[in-house]
Amino acid sequence: MTRAAAIDNVAEYFDSGRFATDLSELVAHETESQTPEKAAELPRYLEEALVPRLRSLGFSCAIHPNPVPDAGPILVAERIEDDTGPTILSYGHGDVIRAQTDQWHNGLYPFRLVDEGDCLFGRGTADNKGQHLINLAALSSVIDARGSLGFNIRILIEMGEEMGSPGLSEFCATHKENLAADVLIASDGPRLQSDTPTMFMGARGGNSFDLIVDLRDGAHHSGNWGGLLADPAMILAQALSTITDVRGQIQIPEWRPTSLTEDIRHTLRNLPVGGDGGPKIDEDWGEESLTPAERVFGWNSFAILAMKSGVPEEPVNAISGYAKAACQLRFVVGTDQAGILSALRRHLDARGFQIVKIKPHDRGFFDATRTSPEHPWVSFVARSLEETSGKRPHILPNLAGSLPNEVFSDVLGLPTIWVPHSYRGCSQHAPNEHVLKSVSRDALRAMAGLFWDIGDLARPL
Ligand SMILES: [Zn+2]
Repeated sequence: MTRAAAIDNVAEYFDSGRFATDLSELVAHETESQTPEKAAELPRYLEEALVPRLRSLGFSCAIHPNPVPDAGPILVAERIEDDTGPTILSYGHGDVIRAQTDQWHNGLYPFRLVDEGDCLFGRGTADNKGQHLINLAALSSVIDARGSLGFNIRILIEMGEEMGSPGLSEFCATHKENLAADVLIASDGPRLQSDTPTMFMGARGGNSFDLIVDLRDGAHHSGNWGGLLADPAMILAQALSTITDVRGQIQIPEWRPTSLTEDIRHTLRNLPVGGDGGPKIDEDWGEESLTPAERVFGWNSFAILAMKSGVPEEPVNAISGYAKAACQLRFVVGTDQAGILSALRRHLDARGFQIVKIKPHDRGFFDATRTSPEHPWVSFVARSLEETSGKRPHILPNLAGSLPNEVFSDVLGLPTIWVPHSYRGCSQHAPNEHVLKSVSRDALRAMAGLFWDIGDLARPL
């Protein structure tokens, strides 16, 4: 049997409708990790949907309790063929974001797979059930075609990613030996452009916090007190306005990264940004001297996620006592991660805004990570994807969004390569989440080719 047979088999798996059937079984589990009443669904997904599938592929499986109380369990499955061959670690998450059931289009229901045009709708189709199903099906196809994989693989599936992966880091630190591997190859997030494979080697970090101006209890009549009472919303707006300039360019020196080096710029050259069903990009927004790809993948960005003073829905004639903005810095490797909020404090104090409090969000922090685009595993995966798809993959040094990648890159010390199988218009984290059939089929073929090629390596790269 040949590489082509492994790829054809998995295409046939898709064309015969078995991929959609399997995906519908995964989607039917209502695994909302943010909804405490659904807690029983989390272990059930592993026990009923994944373990039988993995056992039939020759994996041994262990479901571990989460080291954090009340957080979802963690599945570790492994298939070891030969101790001297390469070992891959893969990852996925079986939990989904809140379903938002009443906001889906007519005829759609989050936990029922609906096939419409080029779309398969359902909560978790893109994030992340469809993605780990594609990888499992590709593994299965290689095992069928070759009789074995030709390499060792461990797979970790967590059930709390949408809660910020509670316990994942502690778990991986404790089980480091059981998770030992040469490289992480996993799938989550969107392709940069739906018709071309994408690889990213890390993620931007995120730091979320509130800025609060709390001057007094209650609100006071804006006629009787206007001109006498300081206005918290105005003070907050003035403070916020010093963080960036009018086009969003960051003005805090410590928040400006030092890592946009020539090799990263080279990697980012000619990458398409925008399109694919997303909103139109504002070319005159963000760091003026950078290209759009450099702004989103190679630089930091500040956002005001939400802000409030008084009651915006029903304003009254009163001066509010309180104003709050939920804020976020997305940052790349090369930013002093531990010093982000102290730098903001110094910046605000130097401008007379001592009254503005900074309150970090619980679980509002993700590390920034990156594997060098020059790493031998990166070139190997890129060559394989190109051979199957006939297209040079888009290679990003890191995803613009965030992932718990530091667990793999820092705690486990692995080079990390993500091959995403969704596309940017997939509505993940929103109503009407879906995957494209064309992308899923393409991704199944690409992963079967990649797993076949790894099996041809006699030893780790
Ligand atoms: Zn998600």
